[in-house]
Amino acid sequence: RKADVECRMLVLGAGPGGYTAAFRAADLGLDTVLVERYDSLGGVCLNVGCIPSKALLHAAAVVDEAAHAKDFGIDFGKPKIALDALRGYKEKVVGQLTKGLAGMARQRKVRVVAGTGRFISANELEVEGGGKIQLVRFEQCIIAAGSQAVKLPFFPWDDERVMDSTDALELADVPKKLLVVGGGIIGLEMATVYRALGSEVTVVEFMDQLMPGADKDLVKPLADRLKKQGVAVHLKTRVVEAKAQKSGIACKFEGDSEPETKTFDRVLVAVGRAPNGGKLDAQKAGVEVTERGFIPVDRQMRTSAPHIFAIGDLVGQPMLAHKATHEGKLAAEVAAGEKKEWVARVIPSVAYTDPEIAWVGVTENEAKEKGLKVGVGKFPWAASGRAIGIGRTEGFTKLLFDEATQRVIGAGIVGPHAGDLIAEVALAIEMGCEVADIGHTIHPHPTLSESVAMAAEVYDGTITDLY
Ligand code: FAD
Repeated sequence: RKADVECRMLVLGAGPGGYTAAFRAADLGLDTVLVERYDSLGGVCLNVGCIPSKALLHAAAVVDEAAHAKDFGIDFGKPKIALDALRGYKEKVVGQLTKGLAGMARQRKVRVVAGTGRFISANELEVEGGGKIQLVRFEQCIIAAGSQAVKLPFFPWDDERVMDSTDALELADVPKKLLVVGGGIIGLEMATVYRALGSEVTVVEFMDQLMPGADKDLVKPLADRLKKQGVAVHLKTRVVEAKAQKSGIACKFEGDSEPETKTFDRVLVAVGRAPNGGKLDAQKAGVEVTERGFIPVDRQMRTSAPHIFAIGDLVGQPMLAHKATHEGKLAAEVAAGEKKEWVARVIPSVAYTDPEIAWVGVTENEAKEKGLKVGVGKFPWAASGRAIGIGRTEGFTKLLFDEATQRVIGAGIVGPHAGDLIAEVALAIEMGCEVADIGHTIHPHPTLSESVAMAAEVYDGTITDLY
């Protein structure tokens, strides 16, 4: 059969992993085709993930800041929220970025083929879309088909009041009573948005703390603030039954602390994401896929078929955009003949809640489990002039370092802008810095970034306050 499209490099999926890989491959001179089933490039992250959620979180932060201003004598009154305009703002942000990507693909002569792809052999992919099936023949391939939300089967998914994160980002309305199932990053970010817009929010989490991947002390300032804001959080509790009724979605709970409210106007199910590896007929191309749908890769992102690479959410945790982009770049470079491998020491995690929570490298929990001898430098933001000035003293910065070598091996930060602040520690760990290197680096005053240096100095016992 004659191929409709032939190329040296095929990239399947145009999320952060896929578009980065395709652009890099094209820049390195490989004739590249990018296959995508959505109408726009950018994948989950740009269309229904990182970007729209952060646009809405910005709106939530403005509502909260305006309310906070009352404390220092400025009263903006009760916010009036025009939902159509807010939705429009979010869509404008997304559109600007996805259109930018389409332009960058054109500039590089990356050919975009629209439709859903499935492998039919080691060098062929069938793409179904727009009422036709096209055959793409490739020499090398990078699979970047990402992940999708896990849908707990006992929820009535045909009822529009039951939402996954994509539905919640649509912002159809502001429900009076919202149940968020799952107290991880995505669930809590959406809880933050809807609470600021006026919903009465209940969160249930199966584990014994919110954001189970992070240290407990980091999560506490967020849990305290949520409580003050009237968000009901129920730990060690889960939903075991959900029924669509006229009055709302009626839920049955099991666990330590059952919510008083049992019927909700909307329910967001945010219990994790599952890889799309099992839906591509990848085995027909000789690519091994695990039972759960992950595609195993080596340190060069090569799958079990040497000419096929895989990157991003479908190769494993953490499912984060900045991991996908790095892997995408690496896979393209290796495919083009560069001798490289994946050697990232750490990948930062950030929850863009209020306060933000960010962590990188070894957590205190992990250090304890592994029996590592770690030193901990912890700087409370109550001693930072800048934090006091913005009325946010609940935060803190902590650094973890190996006691024997003094090298920084981890950090956790909670407070506004924690996500921006953590990048410095990621660099420190990558560079093999000792804790004193951070302490001896002059940080600008008065900034929240000083808290990182102070966490290093606190350990030395030299400075305690930063007014
Ligand atoms: P994806 O972005 O999932 O892209 C995969 C693409 O492949 C999709 O466009 C899909 O349509 C396409 N595709 C799949 N199968 C086929 C097929 N058979 N044929 C054709 N096309 C196909 N990460 C962060 O780092 N920071 C954040 O703040 C953040 N916020 C998030 C908020 C939400 C609500 C969600 C859901 C996720 C968030 N993430 C965040 C995670 C982030 O979106 C993902 O880690 C990232 O998008 C993964 O990139 P990827 O390239 O692996 O795959």
